[in-house]
Amino acid sequence: PLVLGIESSCDETGVGIVRGHTLLADALASSVDEHARFGGVVPEVASRAHLQALVPTLHRALDEAGVTLADIDAIAVTAGPGLAGALLVGVAGAKGLALAAEKPIYGVNHLAAHVAVDTLEHGPLPEPAIALLVSGGHSSLLRVDDLARGVTPLGATIDDAAGEAFDKVARLLGMPFPGGPPIDRAARDGDPLAITFPRGLTGPKDLVEHRFDFSFSGLKTAVARWVEARERSGEPVPVNDVAASFQDAVCDVLVRKAIDACRSQGIETLVIGGGVAANSRLKAMAAERAAGYGITVRVPRPKLCTDNGAMVAALGSHLVAAGNAPSKLDFAADSAMPLTLVGV
Ligand code: ATP
Ligand code: MG
Ligand code: FE
Repeated sequence: PLVLGIESSCDETGVGIVRGHTLLADALASSVDEHARFGGVVPEVASRAHLQALVPTLHRALDEAGVTLADIDAIAVTAGPGLAGALLVGVAGAKGLALAAEKPIYGVNHLAAHVAVDTLEHGPLPEPAIALLVSGGHSSLLRVDDLARGVTPLGATIDDAAGEAFDKVARLLGMPFPGGPPIDRAARDGDPLAITFPRGLTGPKDLVEHRFDFSFSGLKTAVARWVEARERSGEPVPVNDVAASFQDAVCDVLVRKAIDACRSQGIETLVIGGGVAANSRLKAMAAERAAGYGITVRVPRPKLCTDNGAMVAALGSHLVAAGNAPSKLDFAADSAMPLTLVGV
């Protein structure tokens, strides 16, 4: 099926078009620069930016794919989770298009879309699979038996998300928002063994009570303390070494727990999605460690890891192919949509 996907859950306005597992267009507009000076996304600013960007981004996607609205078989849109006002712009826009062009509409889960997007790069996802979902707002380990029906959560962060930790540590190192990309770059020139930072929830007791859960707030505090101590002593802060050591602490825990989930469930496919999956060290470390256990790691290219419209189209296409019923036209955006719901 030819499916158009619309994403507007945070600060990215995305419109993607796919045919089956083939990516035809992935148009994106971002309000990230407008939020940068606030150190985080400002909801009202994001909503207004979506309103201005949605129609031009739609036209760019249709042009890029060389199709018209009449050619589209179904429209998919992020129904949640995300910022309420931001979601509303995409959902209202998608409903208008569906009504005007008489197309079925699928309101889908943004987090499931972060998992589904990998099919555009690597083809159908072998099931069962373990999914490590790491983004700005979420960090979860999931079991995927049938993506069209939903996912089973195995564990999640008990405090900060992995992306949030990157953003906060970048801020205290004086790097711009979002912090993932500048830390990734700085870490390439740093020594990951320079400083030993804590690995949250990996102690013997934690591995019983929180085997597949994560915690990153202690790590963030440890980095802040270390940097403060350095500044007090008057010595320069070795920014690249701090970045590399912090990044390795995050990736070590994510990869360790993801591989443990695969091994404990006898699953040979690990798919990683969400903005933090764009991290070069995470991808390399996962591939390296998984190989020894016969586990195949799938990570889409960085542009597909962070928010985009193609991921929504990819999940929509999967649901159409699986024979899922479309959503009723009166469905609501759900800012707190649970991970277990693949669509509304
Ligand atoms: P959610 O998907 O949970 O609603 P979101 O949509 O804001 O959150 P994404 O766009 O999926 O999140 O991811 C953004 C996050 O990914 C940011 O925290 C950003 O710092 C992080 N990120 C992006 N690139 C990298 C990278 N190369 N390394 C580490 N983190 C990265
Ligand atoms: Mg973003
Ligand atoms: Fe996201």
